[in-house]
Amino acid sequence: MIKLTINGQTVTAEDGMSILDAALAHGIEIPALCHDPDLKPESSCRLCLVEVDGRPWPRVACGTPVKDGMVVETNTPEIRATRREILQLLLDNHPNDCLTCQKAGECLLQKYAYEYGVTFRTHNGARRGGEKARFTDTSSPYILRDESKCILCGKCVSTCAELNERSVLSFAGRGFETKVAADRDETLEASTCVSCSRCVAVCPVGALIDRRVREKKIRPWEADRQTIQCKACEYGCEYEVLKKGDERVIRPLSPSGGRPLCLKGRLFVEAEVSSDLRTPYKKEETEKGRKFVRTTWIEALELDGILDRITCNETDSGK
Ligand code: SF4
Ligand code: SF4
Ligand code: SF4
Repeated sequence: MIKLTINGQTVTAEDGMSILDAALAHGIEIPALCHDPDLKPESSCRLCLVEVDGRPWPRVACGTPVKDGMVVETNTPEIRATRREILQLLLDNHPNDCLTCQKAGECLLQKYAYEYGVTFRTHNGARRGGEKARFTDTSSPYILRDESKCILCGKCVSTCAELNERSVLSFAGRGFETKVAADRDETLEASTCVSCSRCVAVCPVGALIDRRVREKKIRPWEADRQTIQCKACEYGCEYEVLKKGDERVIRPLSPSGGRPLCLKGRLFVEAEVSSDLRTPYKKEETEKGRKFVRTTWIEALELDGILDRITCNETDSGK
């Protein structure tokens, strides 16, 4: 363990830990859009800039390891001004859609824009996806994509590659045309995506949305929320139950400990908890490529024999 000073407070940290993780461990918040404790640092959003040892140029807190005796300032006027400009540039290239966006209320971009007093559009020019937000990929019954809201943080790309041991997502294009693409820029349906929804769980904005929650018109901040564990396998991934009136839907949470997620588990939890069961889908290889086809709940839950593990409480689930 080493000692360093953050904002005048002496803290201890493990040698080699990042400044960001050390600060968070002591309740000192540093804004970050691309950070995830289970992923390697992306250092793509640059929002976690801090001053180190009084040097005039800032360092990214997520990619700078702590050192004994280090002195860090996370919130100077200069640092705040730089972060504000970064946020402004992001919002200048973003649809003004918070009113109807599924992510509103838990969107990190919205949260930091509020904290730093940034408003939509101070610079004119082209904007990702044009003037209006729209779902650019509606091919999946589980996930909706809206490229215009993507801030290119890279968390979905990393989580798909690092934690799922598959690399469906990657960056494609250059400069202003850069975007996240599935395989060779295919739809989620045509791609090798297995609908685990882990990318949805880590996306900090409304670029990747859980379709079933969206269709129920439930936003998390207006719902009663409960975290439950999936019993389909020994991992015990966590899902969140969102309850509003008589409606109950589930959504995957970002799993701790670097666990993967799977569609099998999602269907298992959905069958246990949801207020009305939606048709499950499976992917099939056809002559025209991969297609989602409707399946039965019996077939979906017979995967790996998980049907045997459902202990349905009729009173509680309404089924
Ligand atoms: S992604 Fe966030 S900032 Fe963008 S429209 Fe949705 S809520 Fe607003
Ligand atoms: S749903 Fe899972 S497999 Fe599909 S793109 Fe997202 S993380 Fe990758
Ligand atoms: S889709 Fe979401 S997680 Fe992926 S790069 Fe864009 S903003 Fe980040």
